[in-house]
Amino acid sequence: MAKLTKRKPGSKHQRWEKRFLPRSTTSPTLVYGLGGLGALGLGGGFWGQFGSYLHKAPEDFEAWQYAPWLLAAGAIITGVAIWIGTSGAASVRVGSGGVAEERGQGRRIAWWAIESITLQNGALVVKGTGETGDDETITLSLAALPEAAALTLKEASTRVGDKITLSAEERETVPASSKSEGESITPAPLQLVGKRCSKSDKVIAYEPDARVCPRCERVYRKESVPKTCACGASLAHLRGNQDKASPEVAESDE
Ligand SMILES: [Zn+2]
Repeated sequence: MAKLTKRKPGSKHQRWEKRFLPRSTTSPTLVYGLGGLGALGLGGGFWGQFGSYLHKAPEDFEAWQYAPWLLAAGAIITGVAIWIGTSGAASVRVGSGGVAEERGQGRRIAWWAIESITLQNGALVVKGTGETGDDETITLSLAALPEAAALTLKEASTRVGDKITLSAEERETVPASSKSEGESITPAPLQLVGKRCSKSDKVIAYEPDARVCPRCERVYRKESVPKTCACGASLAHLRGNQDKASPEVAESDE
């Protein structure tokens, strides 16, 4: 194991993240079956339309009248097979930084920004505020992303348990989370400069001034760290470091 290196204050918070790829929710047999049927239609239609050239004199040529239709049907069936064979769900990341969907710009809801977690139509629905400050909804289908939904529910239970509104029966439909699932990735450090302190609302101008709640990733300025975070986690250790690190610095009110 690598020895823990001494880190700057404010960046102590060890972040982790798991990446989950969506499963195709369609049976592979159906996709292969349709694909094969489509290919047959394309081949048969093509042969019917143009194959006669090979055997007959031009004056005898008569394309089989259904050939264009067979060709079109083959193309459509092949298209359907491709469409249903590729899942519409986006890859998802779950970790210290909350829940994120890798679609377009990458949408993320931090744990502290989650407003509700519900189960709707076989999917775990996470609602909250996205990184841009807009309302965001991330839907984790239990069929396409069972591990991601399981990990989200597990992490949310310990971080923001009061936001979960799943009945006991609904919880049972979500599979249990296993540590081995998902691809472990190292998330980028939390961007702290420019964020506002959750307590004082002052802007963090200098990264070492920031303290991060390890449970919900709320950001505080070091002089404003409360004993208990709004998520309920004790932040005493962050206050303690602050006292030890700079006992000589007087608290300024600016
Ligand atoms: Zn917190």
